[in-house]
Amino acid sequence: MSTKLKAPKGTRDLAGAEMSAVIRLESVARAVFRRYGFSEIRTPLFEHTELFSRSLGATSDVVEKEMFTFTDRGERMFALRPEGTAGVVRHFIEQNLNVQGAVHRLYYMGPMFRAERPQAGRYRQFWQIGSEHFGQSEPSVDADTVRAAADILRGVGVGFVVQINSLGCGACRPLYRKALSDYLHSKRSELTEESVKRMAVNPLRVLDSKADGPKLGDAPVMKTYLCPECRVHDEKFRSFLGSAVSVEENPRLVRGLDYYSRTVFEFVSDRLGAQNALAAGGRYDELVHLLGGPPTPAVGFALGVDRVVSLMAGEEKRPQNFAVVISLAEPADEEAFQLAEAVRSAGWIVPPVFSHKKKMKNQLAAAADSGARYALLLGEDELAKRTVSIKNLETRDQKQVDISAAVAYLQRESGLFHSAPAQER
Ligand code: AMP
Repeated sequence: MSTKLKAPKGTRDLAGAEMSAVIRLESVARAVFRRYGFSEIRTPLFEHTELFSRSLGATSDVVEKEMFTFTDRGERMFALRPEGTAGVVRHFIEQNLNVQGAVHRLYYMGPMFRAERPQAGRYRQFWQIGSEHFGQSEPSVDADTVRAAADILRGVGVGFVVQINSLGCGACRPLYRKALSDYLHSKRSELTEESVKRMAVNPLRVLDSKADGPKLGDAPVMKTYLCPECRVHDEKFRSFLGSAVSVEENPRLVRGLDYYSRTVFEFVSDRLGAQNALAAGGRYDELVHLLGGPPTPAVGFALGVDRVVSLMAGEEKRPQNFAVVISLAEPADEEAFQLAEAVRSAGWIVPPVFSHKKKMKNQLAAAADSGARYALLLGEDELAKRTVSIKNLETRDQKQVDISAAVAYLQRESGLFHSAPAQER
């Protein structure tokens, strides 16, 4: 006996209402990015493994434990991309986009892959929408990055709180690292083995630890170590954000990846449970140089599509302009076919005509299940009178109208367009 085939652990298919929500989120995001002057880029789903180990840091959780890697027949090592920034930066360097003074604004959307332990809101293949802005170091650009992400979430009606922090720069972070490291050493006996290991390579990450984070309430914070330039940057960033986006300070926000400097931020939702981050990002002024390009300031964010959509889902089930045409008898098939096309031409969603071969009751139930708002019924009676019976699938009200007035009737009833009332029979 063959076993039933299943999607791999931690993956799922996007379909139905969830897929509709993804499409809406993507189209809102595209419109927002257009307003901010970004253009879309699509990079490969896999890259040389080295790109990620160099950019994310060889000791980051993602690189250490979560990459799906493989070798090709030439024994070259590749990894499915665990995030979008590294590939975009690789493109920036490879294409020499760094011509003096040039600013580049790119956005992407697509799947990412991490071999994480699956749980609610955490998948092994998940989708991200993100942006990368190269060539400007001004704090106003950090503020615009946060604002663009906020515009997208607002555009799909998802609430959030933005947490912000500054991680300083190459000049001031080492002083903080040292202070934090000394503090962590004094707590060493209370920490897990994992944290002790992290402490040696990147003490900031210990603050991220689920197990140990709560024990470190009195740890030193970066803010008190910021150099004058980083402090000014941070203050300006906040004032540019102004009242457009309300923010919360989170001195413990360090982000899991190595490449951030100065501004970091995370959009969180209190409706998500343990995996509460909707989007995150920050400034990464050293990454382009680290990967072999010229020193180039940059800032970006990535939004978790799966999580945002889980907060949108439901709204998409019943679009206002969704109708089903049901033929009730063979002679009405042709008219039904024409009617479906006429309603579609007015911008409505109309699937291929439901046939008379199944019972009307079952067809109406199927229409309601599929999310349609109206059923347009054509039987021999309607055919003889040149009418159509239009049933509102929510209220169950039914009216017979002239077939030539069906579209106008639907537009008016659905409240989508104001047109002259159709004549009812
Ligand atoms: P990161 O690249 O880790 O900063 O993630 C950016 C955003 O992507 C997060 O805020 C989440 O919304 C989303 N995300 C990250 N990892 C996963 C995952 N395994 N499954 C679903 N969403 C994720």
